[in-house]
Amino acid sequence: IVNGSNDSQKPRDKLLGGLLTADFDEDSCLSRYQSSLYRKPSPYKPSEYLVSKLRSYEKLHKRCGPGTNAYKEATKNLGHDGQNYANKSVGECRYIVWVAVYGLGNRILTLASVFLYALLTERVVLVDQRKDISDLFCEPFPATSWLLPLDFPLMGQIDSYNKEYSRCYGTMLKNQTINVTSVPRHLYLHILHDSRDEDKMFFCQKDQTLIDQVPWLIVKANVYFIPSLWFNPTFQTELIKIFPQKETVFYHLARYLFHPTNQVWGMVTRSYDAYLSRADETLGIQVRVFSRRAGYFQHVMNQIVACTQREKLLPELTTQGSQVTTNTTKIPNLKAVLVTSLYPEYSDNLKKMYWERPTSTGDIVQVYQPSGERFQQTDKKLHDQKALAEMYLLSLTDKIVTSARSTFGYVAHSLGGLKPWLLYQPTRGKTPNPPCARAISMEPCFLTPPTHGCEAKKRIGSAKIVPFVRHCEDLWHDGLKLF
Ligand code: GDP
Repeated sequence: IVNGSNDSQKPRDKLLGGLLTADFDEDSCLSRYQSSLYRKPSPYKPSEYLVSKLRSYEKLHKRCGPGTNAYKEATKNLGHDGQNYANKSVGECRYIVWVAVYGLGNRILTLASVFLYALLTERVVLVDQRKDISDLFCEPFPATSWLLPLDFPLMGQIDSYNKEYSRCYGTMLKNQTINVTSVPRHLYLHILHDSRDEDKMFFCQKDQTLIDQVPWLIVKANVYFIPSLWFNPTFQTELIKIFPQKETVFYHLARYLFHPTNQVWGMVTRSYDAYLSRADETLGIQVRVFSRRAGYFQHVMNQIVACTQREKLLPELTTQGSQVTTNTTKIPNLKAVLVTSLYPEYSDNLKKMYWERPTSTGDIVQVYQPSGERFQQTDKKLHDQKALAEMYLLSLTDKIVTSARSTFGYVAHSLGGLKPWLLYQPTRGKTPNPPCARAISMEPCFLTPPTHGCEAKKRIGSAKIVPFVRHCEDLWHDGLKLF
């Protein structure tokens, strides 16, 4: 058995090349050490430097995390108004708070981004737990917690933070209300699709000299901003050491951080064992429809068929009535197709196609879609758990087709270490031609990057600043991704 959950099989490389610590109790989070049973051996090993950074981060988090004296000191008087400057003693630890906004794919990409920024700047990441994060993921750091305590002094204000907020970094920069002599104790970073360059460029060297002195950063983000961190030369030197293989950034970070809870893992393994484990080959197809009136569209269905047949991901069908000659020596291949979508019609149609007519190769095609939730219901526990289970299942397939611009799809293929075939976004209700393209790397796309690099030479587009970022295949001359 190559993969599969055969109990007699010892977990291979259960610590993922040293990425994971052995310090956790296995039963409380089965996915952490069992995931290797469901995957082929990884061709991508984490660098020793990444492993050592993670072990030092775990120590830092334990020293500064909730319940410690350092945390108490850092939060003392934080909520009080007045001259709340950082020049007073605030303890030895600095923090970055991740606030849960937008869909689950967005959340996973931004949490990974915030974590990498924290690794680079020696901050402690704490996550807003008021949404269902603890129903989705296990604790990633041993003997401490990544959950921001509910009595965090700024908790009552966080939801109202936006670009207009007086402690929003981009706004302060625009209004020139921030300088080294008046460093606030907390700053809000607005890293959303509607951010200004002032917000997006917080990581540049000149910004960092100031931001580094701020004990508390609160972040709302919905974009994967990791590709832009390479614009800062100090970070770049470090990043090259941490990730010698540049397209593996999200892949390693996600396998380190995101371990589905036992409830979600049960959904993953039950689907896997029932529908994927016995197949000779598996194909994932993620269908996300972004048009205003979303649902089932014939042109999207046609696009899925055109892409999978053109790229030889699925066999063609023979004309009605024709019979494939039975070759007794050839055992037919079983191809399992895992479809995920809010709409069940795409997989229903695919299933019908392969039932009504034989394949030209004689191969057998089995189609399975775990859920069809119809509409997005973010923050509903079971809905989000299904979404996570499906992203994870997609990441276990051999090959994958995903939808342009979808962070749900980005998480699925990057976590799986897969270069996807990207279905272009249809315009004016037409099937795009070509229907899809193979991605150059498995990294997620930063959909709304800054327009230029840190040195403000605005004529140099952001895709030309460092040699290992490019525009994304699924956006026309836009977006940024590592390869
Ligand atoms: P994006 O909008 O495609 O970038 O992905 P997000 O994950 O950020 O937001 C979409 C949300 O819609 C998901 O988190 C789910 O709640 C829901 N959703 C979209 N597609 C699917 C799907 O294929 N399966 C499930 N279970 N939920 C989906």
